[in-house]
Amino acid sequence: MNSLDFQNLRSAQGKFRTPRFKSTWFQPRTVILLGPPGAGKGTQAQRIAGQCGLKHLSTGDMLRDNIYRDTELAKKAKPLINRGELVPDEIVLGMVKERIAQPDCKNGFILDGFPRTLRQAQGLEEICVPHKSKAATVLNFAVKAELLVRRLINRRICNKCGHIYNLIEHPPEHSGICDLDGSELLQRADDAEEVVRERICTYERHTRPLIDYYAAKGVLHEVEGTSDPDAVTASILKVLNK
Ligand SMILES: [Zn+2]
Repeated sequence: MNSLDFQNLRSAQGKFRTPRFKSTWFQPRTVILLGPPGAGKGTQAQRIAGQCGLKHLSTGDMLRDNIYRDTELAKKAKPLINRGELVPDEIVLGMVKERIAQPDCKNGFILDGFPRTLRQAQGLEEICVPHKSKAATVLNFAVKAELLVRRLINRRICNKCGHIYNLIEHPPEHSGICDLDGSELLQRADDAEEVVRERICTYERHTRPLIDYYAAKGVLHEVEGTSDPDAVTASILKVLNK
């Protein structure tokens, strides 16, 4: 269905809706991306958002937006962030609740980096109730730990423009120098091998209960994250179009 057909259907739905029986055939969609750091979730979220007419939501962006607007939520979250503490589930949930009520989320949304805990997953279901959304589709990016380690330890970032290189997959033309502006390429401190291994372990420890939770509900789909990005996008679209 193209976007014009879709809009016509939406307006027809509005016109012919009887006040007593609210139409339920149109249901916004929730897509959740789970996967370790370096699995390519952000790239895929951007691609499928464009192709499926869903809004790509990242909790990091939401937090920055709240801080920019100096909201009540930001006032609670800021001291915690400044002390290097995690933002509690209730604050994150409040932020997501407010964000998904915005008109640009009416077709549905893709969550990248959220939920991270079981409490967040359960809270998400509660805040989705008023939106009458379909049961979430959860995509778990399965990438072998060794491949993640190799990807992350070979990542280099331009000191000046922030462009990201990979010494194996897409190296700069001249070693250690940014193709775009000739500045020095650096390795992030948390991309050092021991730190990367620790990040992957932490992720697995925290996310395992979440994966089990969604698997028990029958909404979990495994995505082979090791293939090339186009193949990954195609396999995701296959799941979403089912
Ligand atoms: Zn650069």
